[in-house]
Amino acid sequence: MARYTEPVCRLCRAEGTKLFLKGERCNTGKCAVVRRAYRPGQHGQARQKVSEYGVRLKEKQKMRRIYGILEKQFYKYYDIASRSKSVTGEHMLQQLELRLDNLVYRLGFAPSRSMARQIVRHGHVLVNGRRLDIPSAQIKAGATIVINDKAKAFVKTVREGMGPTLVPAWLNADHDNLAGTVLSVPTRGEIDTSVQENLVIEFYAR
Ligand code: SF4
Repeated sequence: MARYTEPVCRLCRAEGTKLFLKGERCNTGKCAVVRRAYRPGQHGQARQKVSEYGVRLKEKQKMRRIYGILEKQFYKYYDIASRSKSVTGEHMLQQLELRLDNLVYRLGFAPSRSMARQIVRHGHVLVNGRRLDIPSAQIKAGATIVINDKAKAFVKTVREGMGPTLVPAWLNADHDNLAGTVLSVPTRGEIDTSVQENLVIEFYAR
């Protein structure tokens, strides 16, 4: 499975905004965006003129990096969304939100999507009572997501180091038993993200 292995804080600095890729560290003064508020690299502090194309490319990269997905797979989400009858941008975001790794993160069982992905990959998540170790699996409304007994102690320890978790209204989380339910497919208004998905769609549709 291909994945990004370079320092992730560079990605935030390149975007010029926090992408919250490192869990609790992102909320502290140690955050690289706070300490070095300029782009990485030799010319990071030089002035930059961004074209119309550049704006859209940047937004696409931002969205892709927030969810931790490589280009090929990310394009597939656009492709599926563009063929659907619903609003393309919203449909794309819904697919991203309903990934199993994102749900484990949104339910507050991990401080970052990358850790959530690890928990899933190691087979510690049960969906509707069955082990599912595919981070990109699309989960349907009504599904239950539970951390297995083997990982419960670890996840509880991780949670102790996390701040209060804001679970979105379309999910239900039981943090004592590390169990959650997908109540519904989220609408655009229920998805908490700073990404302007219309720019992403314009990037691919150009
Ligand atoms: Fe991004 Fe978090 Fe690193 Fe800050 S600490 S630069 S928000 S990954």
